[in-house]
Amino acid sequence: MTEAVAFDVVSEGLAEVHRLLLPVREGEVASYIPPLALADPDDFGVALVSMDGHRYQAGSSGTLFTIQSVSKPFVHALALAELGMDELSRWVGNEPSGDAFNAISLEDGTGRPANAMINAGAIATTNLVPAASSAERFDRVLDALSAFAGRQLDVDEEVYRAESATGDRNRALAYLMHAAGSLRTDPVEAAEVYFRQCAVRVDTVDLAVMAATLANAGVNPVTGEAVVPEAVAVEVLSVMATCGMYDAAGDWLVRVGLPAKSGVSGGLAAASPARFGIACWSPPLDRTGSTVRGVVALRELSKRFGLHLLHRPARTADTVTEHGTAARAASGRERTAEERALLSRGGDRIALVAAQGELDFTATERVLRALAETVPDEPGWVVVDLHRAIAYPTPATMLGVVMRRVAAAGHRIALVGDVGEDWDCGATRHTDREEALAWAEDALLRELARAR
Ligand code: GLN
Repeated sequence: MTEAVAFDVVSEGLAEVHRLLLPVREGEVASYIPPLALADPDDFGVALVSMDGHRYQAGSSGTLFTIQSVSKPFVHALALAELGMDELSRWVGNEPSGDAFNAISLEDGTGRPANAMINAGAIATTNLVPAASSAERFDRVLDALSAFAGRQLDVDEEVYRAESATGDRNRALAYLMHAAGSLRTDPVEAAEVYFRQCAVRVDTVDLAVMAATLANAGVNPVTGEAVVPEAVAVEVLSVMATCGMYDAAGDWLVRVGLPAKSGVSGGLAAASPARFGIACWSPPLDRTGSTVRGVVALRELSKRFGLHLLHRPARTADTVTEHGTAARAASGRERTAEERALLSRGGDRIALVAAQGELDFTATERVLRALAETVPDEPGWVVVDLHRAIAYPTPATMLGVVMRRVAAAGHRIALVGDVGEDWDCGATRHTDREEALAWAEDALLRELARAR
């Protein structure tokens, strides 16, 4: 009997991390909000959601807990989508405070909280969400969190009540901001909306979907819904990268290198842009208020899979697959002996550059150098074969600028492949390279015939 091949090494990786870290006995379950103290220290969920919405999971990934501070980046996204960064940053800064999550980190003079990831900044951010009443504001917050998670979320009323009953420090932060003019809504109500936001129930998979939505330019990869614009997702990920892990944010960026957010119930969500969202949940916390197992799990996975944001990205294949002139690389057309002789003498006036893959900044820079080497000095023909390349807006513009210059210098351009936009360089379009080269050769032969 042959055994089925096990393809899913992603789930195996998560299960292995889960197994390795379950015996860890460090950390304390948060107790300042009484019901949180009842959490089982051995609950440990891990989940990863890919950019096509595939969900991988291990451990207690389907057990519900309150989202707590992991809600902050997602509500920040909602407020940013409504107000824009310029307006929002008048009220809440973008600077890491280096302080604990519940610190009184308010700017001298203005009372502006340092960032939206600490409690003060989150209370202010939540209350910038436009609404006619606190109830409506919370509904908008819950709708946004649900859209990020891809399902309707609800509130753990018991945790909410306990949080409100023990929430004097957060209320004090709201009062201080109100007195300084940095919070415009009623401070008591402002704190209540924030408490309800923290008491929204999620499981580990929900958190991974939420993070994956940020990683996927604001589009939920499971539901396909565009939850926030791409620019907002980038802004939120930036703030998570510098402020998401409170007073441990610097060490986190060094060791893990992914934008992330943790919360006191033991949740941790991290995003690997264009790759996946990942989440862990394990109640025992370190002294900065982040899940002990979650932090080690992410360190481990980041090392194993090379996930650090500032890691040199791997180049998978050569960008320029061919560059030279028709003198050596002629089209396959049948030619007379005389034509062949003419082409081998005059063929240097026909340049060919073929490229493949994504034309990002680096790839485009290589294409430009290949063009610089092959495009003839006197006006000739330039065949650019991009039928296996993908051109994106910004680098396409770099290439577009150069193609217009090439045209202005008197060269005729033959473009192979659908580059998705017209560079306004008068190029002829061709379906394959042979045909484009033959077109250039025919034109060269006609010109040489006329010159005789
Ligand atoms: N609701 C908690 C608080 O305000 C959230 C803090 C956290 O998760 N770090 O104290």
